[in-house]
Amino acid sequence: MSTRGPAIIRNINRFDVLHTIRLHDNQISRSELSDLTGLSQATISSIVGHLIDEGALVEDDASGLGARGRGRPLVMLRLNPEYTHVVGVKIATHQIVFSVTDFVGNVCASDNIPVEPLKLTPAQLLAFIVRGVRVCLKKAGKSIGDVSGIGVGLPGFVDSHRGMAFWSPVFASSNVNFRELLQTKFDVPVFVENDANLVTLAELWFGMAKGLENAVVVTIEHGTGSGLIFNGRLYRGAQGLAAEFGHTKLVFNGPPCQCGERGCMETRTAAFAIIHEAAKAGFRIPKRPLDYNERSRLVQEIVARAEAGDKAMKRIFEQMGRYLGLGIANLVNLLNPERVIICQGAIRCAHLFEDSLRLIAEQMVIPPLKRNLEIVIHHWGDEVWARGAASLVLLELDQKGRSELPRGSSVYRRRAARNGKTRPGVNDVST
Ligand SMILES: [Zn+2]
Repeated sequence: MSTRGPAIIRNINRFDVLHTIRLHDNQISRSELSDLTGLSQATISSIVGHLIDEGALVEDDASGLGARGRGRPLVMLRLNPEYTHVVGVKIATHQIVFSVTDFVGNVCASDNIPVEPLKLTPAQLLAFIVRGVRVCLKKAGKSIGDVSGIGVGLPGFVDSHRGMAFWSPVFASSNVNFRELLQTKFDVPVFVENDANLVTLAELWFGMAKGLENAVVVTIEHGTGSGLIFNGRLYRGAQGLAAEFGHTKLVFNGPPCQCGERGCMETRTAAFAIIHEAAKAGFRIPKRPLDYNERSRLVQEIVARAEAGDKAMKRIFEQMGRYLGLGIANLVNLLNPERVIICQGAIRCAHLFEDSLRLIAEQMVIPPLKRNLEIVIHHWGDEVWARGAASLVLLELDQKGRSELPRGSSVYRRRAARNGKTRPGVNDVST
């Protein structure tokens, strides 16, 4: 007998229906839903009825729409943006960004607080976050009661199942159980995820990986990250630590990495490595530890010099492209993705490394895998990770079901209220 009982199947079906509507630009009919999900018309009717009762879906009469409008009125379904909201918090070494996103994925409000987390204890950081969430919600005209959950992204080695940061450049100490800490302050579920995985979820739900079954996302910021999409879902690995592309090893006993190990990809591709290489080529840098803003400014100057034709500076980015190309070729040879999406945020240097990356990838990807492979560059802003945080919370809530939600959660309350008026047939499931 299967260990996956009806409640779990219902959650999966519900998630599939909502996700299919999102992937189809938030406008779809019941029969299209049935075709695309493989669920029977009866099951779709039941799930959709349930979601309309809850307020998650709304119906639009689309009978005037061209040829489709003939005969019976065509009723289209779409997500109700006001059904619920999600708070996103992205913690970096120089700032915390807050966002409030609606159920469709529109960013309703965002806020930005400059910080130096390494100078804060986890408790002080927590106080910053509590205050920042309150301010951002006020800006969006919402209260915590309107929110289903909080998605938090941070850089480093993060166990996304437990929300444990084994190592992160934002904490002076290791093994911080950040989710547990945050959950003591909020009455709604909190989920903590590696920041590159948030970008990957945003690409999967809203961006260049939308609708793809197998894809790789590589993020270029001060560090180098990645996220893997297997069979249409984010792959997290046994401990939720998968896809540490920036810390895959290139050489034995290579240069030291900020993670404490040696020879990592980041020692050739991260901001600290670009600055180090530039210094070796005669670029003057202060002889003291640099903070985030100083490193950003220096990298921008190095980029500007390379753009102006400085050959030594251009070579730094060409070398970066060769290492990225080597790493990406290995990922492609291992995983056979349809698309590799290189996402760059604040550090814009892809135009300087792209040619050498493509050249090496072309040489090193095994021939049969090249046929359908696309490598694309995507520039992203803060809205990308805000949508990623929204995707994380909605994904976790829909996949876990209400039994695992804290009792104060608004989704818990809505679902519990709905439970009292369950309609006949609503528990029908189709396997
Ligand atoms: Zn490393």
